[in-house]
Amino acid sequence: MSAADVAADTANDSGADTPRDFIRDIVRSDLAAGRTAEVVTRFPPEPNGFLHIGHAKSICLNFGVAQEFGGHCSLRFDDTNPTKEEQLYIDAIEEDVRWLGFDWGSHLHHASDYFQQLYDWAEHLIETGKAYVDDLSPEEMRAYRGTLTEPGRDSPYRSRSLEESLDLFRRMKAGEFPDGARVLRAKIDMASGNINLRDPALYRILHASHPRTGDAWCIYPTYDFAHGQSDAIEGVTHSLCTLEFEDHRPLYDWLIENLPVPTRPRQYEFARLNLSHTVLSKRRLIQLVTEGHVAGWDDPRMPTLAGLRRRGVPPEALRDFARRIGISKADNLVQLALLEACMREALNKSALRRMAVLNPLKVVIENYPEGESELLEAVNNPEDPEAGTRQVPFSRELYIEREDFMEDPPKKFFRLGPGREVRLRYAYFITCREAVKNDAGEIVELRCTYDPATRGGDSPDGRKVKGTLHWVSAAHGIPAEVRNYDTLFTEEVPGTGHGGDYLADLNPDSLKVLDCCLLEPALAEAPVGTAVQFERLGYFCPDPDSTPERPVFNRTVGLRDTWAKLQSKR
Ligand code: ATP
Ligand code: MG
Repeated sequence: MSAADVAADTANDSGADTPRDFIRDIVRSDLAAGRTAEVVTRFPPEPNGFLHIGHAKSICLNFGVAQEFGGHCSLRFDDTNPTKEEQLYIDAIEEDVRWLGFDWGSHLHHASDYFQQLYDWAEHLIETGKAYVDDLSPEEMRAYRGTLTEPGRDSPYRSRSLEESLDLFRRMKAGEFPDGARVLRAKIDMASGNINLRDPALYRILHASHPRTGDAWCIYPTYDFAHGQSDAIEGVTHSLCTLEFEDHRPLYDWLIENLPVPTRPRQYEFARLNLSHTVLSKRRLIQLVTEGHVAGWDDPRMPTLAGLRRRGVPPEALRDFARRIGISKADNLVQLALLEACMREALNKSALRRMAVLNPLKVVIENYPEGESELLEAVNNPEDPEAGTRQVPFSRELYIEREDFMEDPPKKFFRLGPGREVRLRYAYFITCREAVKNDAGEIVELRCTYDPATRGGDSPDGRKVKGTLHWVSAAHGIPAEVRNYDTLFTEEVPGTGHGGDYLADLNPDSLKVLDCCLLEPALAEAPVGTAVQFERLGYFCPDPDSTPERPVFNRTVGLRDTWAKLQSKR
């Protein structure tokens, strides 16, 4: 199928799952009109930090558009600032994009692959009178630049000869000058209403070793000079970026027009993702990590892809999230509750059900024979019959959730209380006979009896119970640590108050460690990174900190759907 056919086909497909937005409309019409033969996009991270969920929006858009319209998307590292970039970040970014479910195939590129070509084009601009070497200091340059309301002034070096600029630029490259001594600037218009056109810097001196090119260069292109030209070299047709680059587009176009580039990419801007109760600026995420406010880039409270993965969020939940928030030009704030709803929806389909008690209260079944146990059959996933069943051991001493018992229960409390009967999931009906207390008056144990005729959790005489509790056999349970997470920040938009100090809004209760939890034996085999449902509690995922002796689980997300609740209130 040709790209145009794919476009027509997509246009006819009115299925709810096919995203429609202004960017896809542009691509569709470019293909239909023959302006574009094959759509080529790119995801262009700067390797100076880990990817976050905002990047996931951009990845899903760039790779998604290429996939839907039969083109290709490349992964391009925008590695033009060697002082902030590290191999660690490069590796993490590749891992995260793959984990999210996208494949760049043979299209792995680096802006640094083009350093020689970019340099040659810089010389071309000098030779055609469209760039010059400026000797102003950074402070002077700022003063000459003007403001939003005042035009800038020409640098005294703007009128130096082509020959002199070319000579100085070559000597910059040869390493004759220290950092910051000179820059190469485009010669555009110091009076432009758009500050980006007031002779922007194209090359700066940086005596720094680069992760890929080593010490071959001591001058590096700026983002603005590298980005569009890299797009052109790679044949990118639709260069998709966030709105803060809208004011850079005239410069992007100016460079493409004034250079002998092989293709003419077009830049389109969309609104970046803002997510409530977190921060998505790399500068802030780096600060959280380096100052130890979190345990690292992959701390499960972080909005990074590594953190979300460690927390147990499946990649399909993030792709679904990206689809639901859509693409537009309007800035907005997306509620974290929407992301949580996407997690629940994905996990409800895929997660195995297991039993775990987070806050244990001992139960002794007085009429169950001492020293005996039996295996009961339990369903692995009611949403997926193919997931089958498993055996859960039952015995005389069990643990239930402490909050599933009340000494003096109110009317609507359908769980256990003195004299009350409830169902133990997959097991038996039990009745509470007595609550045993310690000297401090705290309940330490429940004495109960069970009805052997209710094996499997059904009563042959049609007797009904209102409550069903989860439980773990004391002798068979695996002691574990469970990490319960709340939002990393207490405020929807951290830093709105406190004079902009977003750190003041860090949630002191974002991590609660429960260290005497008990898991059913089948949880010993739960693979790290795959979330399971703890019945009645939520979704949890084994953490890499687990040892064979002591599993550690992260709470991925609770069961309660705050999003659905919010929606129904509207
Ligand atoms: P910073 O946080 O310093 O602004 P950055 O997040 O823009 O950095 P890049 O590595 O340059 O870091 O981003 C790569 C791509 O991801 C860019 O095309 C950028 O527009 C896009 N992107 C970054 N943040 C978001 C976001 N919150 N929502 C959507 N796209 C984003
Ligand atoms: Mg950026």
